[in-house]
Amino acid sequence: MSATAQVESKERELNVLESTQQVIQDALNHLGYGPKYYDLLKEPLVTLTVRIPVRMDDGSVKVFTGYRCQHNNAVGPTKGGIRFHPSVTVEEVQALSMWMSVKCGVVGLPYGGGKGGIICDPREMSIGELERLSRGYVRAISQIVGPTKDIPAPDVFTNSQVMAWMMDEYSRLREFDSPGFITGKPLVLGGSHGRETATAKGVTICIEEAAKRRGISLKDARIIVQGFGNAGSYLAKFMHDAGAKVVGISDAYGALYDANGLDIDALLDMRDSFGTVTTKCKNTISNQQLLEMPCDILVPAAIENQITAANAHRIQASIVVEAANGPTTLEATKILADRGILLVPDVLANAGGVTVSYFEWAQNNQGLYWDEEQVEERLRHVMVRSFETVYQMAQDHDVHMRLAAYMVGVQRMAEAMYHRGWV
Ligand code: NAD
Repeated sequence: MSATAQVESKERELNVLESTQQVIQDALNHLGYGPKYYDLLKEPLVTLTVRIPVRMDDGSVKVFTGYRCQHNNAVGPTKGGIRFHPSVTVEEVQALSMWMSVKCGVVGLPYGGGKGGIICDPREMSIGELERLSRGYVRAISQIVGPTKDIPAPDVFTNSQVMAWMMDEYSRLREFDSPGFITGKPLVLGGSHGRETATAKGVTICIEEAAKRRGISLKDARIIVQGFGNAGSYLAKFMHDAGAKVVGISDAYGALYDANGLDIDALLDMRDSFGTVTTKCKNTISNQQLLEMPCDILVPAAIENQITAANAHRIQASIVVEAANGPTTLEATKILADRGILLVPDVLANAGGVTVSYFEWAQNNQGLYWDEEQVEERLRHVMVRSFETVYQMAQDHDVHMRLAAYMVGVQRMAEAMYHRGWV
């Protein structure tokens, strides 16, 4: 990364941390909790930095820097993914651990939030190097993680294979099989049915609930999905199968829009493993144009900071459902709310992933495994209940859904800290 890119990335991430702190403070103020609560919640309780020496394929040793942050464990052990990316910073990992706390609170899981990250570029590493890095990271953080302390999961550029190496390394260190140490594992190692589609399923349920509240029938609805990766492509498929008209999709290289509806099955066949499809298509438009095209429901499912004060006035959807983390800035959230657009925030909309991770952990702990229907039924129950709780909080306090979701999440942590005698 160039020096300028590093500065820009750092500024963006600092803003993520600051804006998260701002919403937590607003949520506490609305609920009447004093400054002692904010003091404990404004940053993670634990931020561990580790340096990991890894033998590279050419015989040299390279030292990687990694982090593990545990925001708050008043409700229960902390939980959250591990990200492998060259732009990882400690502030980013801290903010992501705070989002996880709120998310777990919103869907009522017995967890606090955690997050991990390693500064590396897996696209430039061999499988052997990745395995040694994954195992080295587990050895470095092993004292503060574990099935009843802090349970990692996949995140950007980590997958079920990385989880399998990490689970194996932890089990060797502890000298007993520990599937409950980490979630997102392959099925044969104690993974859960339904994990791969869980985020998109959760988003789908939120879309159904939001559409009901707005009197929109999904069968007639026009939907735009930004991003065609794990979250976006499954979501587009579920919407298409539910009879909705998916009029727009995009990837990092461009977007497609057709007012008559796109052929989602054909696009899924053309898509590569990185979620790229538009490079093989004609008549593309830009991602920014796509967001402003006519539709009823807009689903950002790619990256952060896509709906900002600069374009929020031009969004035509009446419902925005955030499958991605942080796609809408705080300023844009307020503009959308003032315009009467119903925004379902990330900490609610994409919580299906961590919910099924929790199911995986619960199955590992009891040694009894569920089939796909059981997972789906329980996920639906959690998501419908959580949507209703957040919607009701928004109505009762006359606030937008993001603040309402933070109020639900923060309230659980505040109550748990109070009963533990921390405040
Ligand atoms: P992914 O890597 O599978 O796919 C990302 C998609 O976004 C790809 O189609 C890519 O081309 C596109 N993209 C990348 N940069 C873009 C840009 N600048 N403009 C437009 N599109 C761009 O990722 P994913 O797992 O689908 O995650 C997408 C979002 O959903 C992220 O914000 C992630 O944090 C969030 N999320 C995912 C999960 C999950 O289980 N996958 C869970 C919770 C949240």
